[in-house]
Amino acid sequence: MKIAIVGAGITGCLLADFLDTDNFEVSIFEKSRGCGGRASTKQTDFGQCDIGATVVPVKTVEFAQFMRQLCHQNIVSQWPQTIAITHQNNGVKTPLEIFESDREYYVFNQKMNAACRHWAKKAQLHTNSLIDQVRYHQDKGWQLKINGVWQAERFDKLVITAPWPQSQTIIEQSEVSLALPTFSQTWSSCWSIAVKLDRVVTSAVDLVYLKGHSIQTLVRDSSKPQRPEVTTTQQNEIWVAQLANELSDDLGSQCMNEAISIATKELCELFGLSNQSVTDTYAHYWRYARPSAGQKPLGILSNHENGIYLGGDWSFGSSIESAYEGARALVQLIKTGV
Ligand SMILES: Cc1cc2nc3c(=O)[nH]c(=O)nc-3n(C[C@H](O)[C@H](O)[C@H](O)COP(=O)(O)OP(=O)(O)OC[C@H]3O[C@@H](n4cnc5c(N)ncnc54)[C@H](O)[C@@H]3O)c2cc1C
Repeated sequence: MKIAIVGAGITGCLLADFLDTDNFEVSIFEKSRGCGGRASTKQTDFGQCDIGATVVPVKTVEFAQFMRQLCHQNIVSQWPQTIAITHQNNGVKTPLEIFESDREYYVFNQKMNAACRHWAKKAQLHTNSLIDQVRYHQDKGWQLKINGVWQAERFDKLVITAPWPQSQTIIEQSEVSLALPTFSQTWSSCWSIAVKLDRVVTSAVDLVYLKGHSIQTLVRDSSKPQRPEVTTTQQNEIWVAQLANELSDDLGSQCMNEAISIATKELCELFGLSNQSVTDTYAHYWRYARPSAGQKPLGILSNHENGIYLGGDWSFGSSIESAYEGARALVQLIKTGV
């Protein structure tokens, strides 16, 4: 059976891995140059950094088992050891406090998108392939329009794993018989800023959650395990700051310099550094970072009879664990119809 997966993020690549090759011939179509999606790593002039998803916190027992298995296979490592939290209420900032969590935290070894390459190995991966439209031919299957051109190849099944706003656009531009939910989801953006310092921050924490601040998450990226030690030394390091989603929405994609200035100022203030400690920066704007806070997950959408399925992290939440849940639910639905 031939199956086309749109999107080579965690959901799409894991799904490709879960589908057994005896029964399925899997092709993945990805609009970007590589796989990983929002779990993405950037090779900048000053070193490598994870500019999308930073860590994988584990909530459920099933996902914990899955991650422990990956740990045994040396695909992920437990990291970080020390997490801190700080709050800002009415302009008053609390000092860093150690965040006691009962969850396990992991990172993918080498880079955050490395596992996607591993999971996509059994599939045919087509990069630089933007799916604009799809159409269904009775008894012949699914046809894809890639980069503006309808392809001759047909697929028995089609799975769309793009972020919900992009999945919705494909469906709205196509002739597809699929019941959409009565409610939708709005998504927020995120400015992610990598900052190279000319020194090492002496604080023992590697991950900071900031509540009510301009930055929401701050990560000592260069201390993640199994990273290439090309450009960082014991005298310098790279941190990645993610600006709060609401602030990122307000700034929009055009305000890169302002986003960098906010991130570097807050990082330096937090660790008592001067602005001169910052030697390099790299900024990425995620237009569709995650569903805006407080919304209902959309679940998996499908028409099993015609063989079309839509799912992703947004089906169950907005994290790597929800992308895993999405891939699990998709494979079950594809194989059994329920
Ligand atoms: C800045 C940031 C920080 C984050 N931090 C964390 C974190 O620390 N921990 C955590 O658990 N989660 C985090 N997340 C969320 C996490 O990255 C996502 O939940 C997860 O990566 C989603 O995977 P996915 O495969 O469902 O979607 P995606 O990764 O978005 O994959 C979908 C893929 O579809 C492709 N695509 C879209 N449209 C088309 C089209 N028309 N044709 C072809 N391809 C298309 C996209 O290019 C993309 O590669 C973060 C997200 C962001 C943006």
